[in-house]
Amino acid sequence: MNHDFDLFVIGGGSAGVRLARIAAGHGAKVGIAESRFWGGTCVNIGCVPKKLLVMAAEYGLAADDAAGFGWHMNKHTHDWPRFIAAKNLEIARLNGAYTGLLERAGAKIFNAKATLHNAHTIEVAGHKVTAARIAIATGGHPIRPDIPGCNLAIISDDAFYLPERPQRVVMIGGGYIGVEFAGIFAGLGSKVDLVYRQPHPLRGFDTDLRCGLAEALTANGICLHPGQSPLRIESAGGAKRLHLSNGHHIDADCIFFATGRAPNTSDLGLEHAGVTIAPGGAIPIDEAFRTNIPHIFALGDVTDRLNLTPVATAEGHALADTLFGDNPRGVSLNNVPSAVFSIPPLATIGITEDEAPDGSKIYLTRFTPMRHALTGRHRKTIMKLIVDGETDKVIGAHMLGEDAAEIIQGIAIAIGAGATKADFDHTIGIHPTAAEEFVTLRTETRRVGTPVTKAAE
Ligand code: NDP
Repeated sequence: MNHDFDLFVIGGGSAGVRLARIAAGHGAKVGIAESRFWGGTCVNIGCVPKKLLVMAAEYGLAADDAAGFGWHMNKHTHDWPRFIAAKNLEIARLNGAYTGLLERAGAKIFNAKATLHNAHTIEVAGHKVTAARIAIATGGHPIRPDIPGCNLAIISDDAFYLPERPQRVVMIGGGYIGVEFAGIFAGLGSKVDLVYRQPHPLRGFDTDLRCGLAEALTANGICLHPGQSPLRIESAGGAKRLHLSNGHHIDADCIFFATGRAPNTSDLGLEHAGVTIAPGGAIPIDEAFRTNIPHIFALGDVTDRLNLTPVATAEGHALADTLFGDNPRGVSLNNVPSAVFSIPPLATIGITEDEAPDGSKIYLTRFTPMRHALTGRHRKTIMKLIVDGETDKVIGAHMLGEDAAEIIQGIAIAIGAGATKADFDHTIGIHPTAAEEFVTLRTETRRVGTPVTKAAE
């Protein structure tokens, strides 16, 4: 049967745009629909504007630090509306770049919501179109815990468009977004409280880094509330009041839920096409990105596997090559590096010490970065390698400290290529850098599964 399109992509975020662009480049007739903004979460209300906000906060801290290097600085307050306007201009430029890429590749663009009418028919912009294959790349959205007063709090979607910077902010959630925005608001001059349920922020990351981050956040003036859950929120005069599980409350101008995200699968008409969704809303897929309906695919955050932009783009590219490029391939979710843009940042690749098998060797260093010998800022860098006790392969690398994301990206290549600790040791360092510590860690700190003696502590 002849269809209007070889492939119709629903969702113009990182996964969908890459898929549509590469598929069209391979000669496929491609349609793509986006109802909100091109580039999706990452470009508009995620990674990109978040990183700009982190940079804005870091300038303020750097201005304080400059005194240690002889600068007399008069630091004024931060002009939030001016910064947000500059940020919005950059995001608009990127939106245009995304649609430009798609148009040049020959994809047909629909600025409209698309829904499934049946397994081959899509309703979009008041029309029905058919496609031989359909891909769902609709991403996810932030979720609010269902507590009384939850609508008094904002979510990350709102944070990028606040008319003014709140003076007092309570962040709820100790995950990526919680610690990143805690650093942003504190760096820009707000009083910040960070509330999380675990003993340390960033559940799932290496414990040494989690503890180091908690120390760094405190040093940045952020008030930590570990082991606390939000119970209810109410208006209190001009403020908002958050009640915690320990019976205390915090008053703030802004309460911010950073409590996870859920896939965008409602209102897509998936049931008309027979596509199955999991209880949390994610679309289950096989290794070739197929849903239970073999010509309907899903990729990116809507599958709720590893919700990171570079994973989504890699999936889009692999699916396009598989379907139309005569190059069938999947995407391995092993050894995916990631970074948290807290202040200071944290980055990681491979397994944590808690996940490491008995006999793994741990190399750990903790030091004051060169810069802060002069600034006096209390900030420690932590670097850690986890080495397989039998094969000598480096199976985990973790860093908390300035430039962590930039450094771990390079280390990820070595680990992906199967580098051993001996390979790291043979590598000449670049001096003076923090990165050189990764190739000069000579003394084993401890061994997983071996009790630490008093003398070794
Ligand atoms: P995360 O899953 O990273 O963290 C969610 C946090 O909210 C956890 O601390 C969790 O606590 C807590 N939480 C969940 N439910 C509740 C509740 N009912 N009450 C109180 N606390 C709760 O989610 P984020 O929203 O921070 O980020 C979403 C995802 O977006 C990330 O997982 C990541 O995939 C992606 N992302 C990636 C970034 C990057 O690459 N730099 C940046 C931002 C987002 P607990 O640990 O106890 O469950």
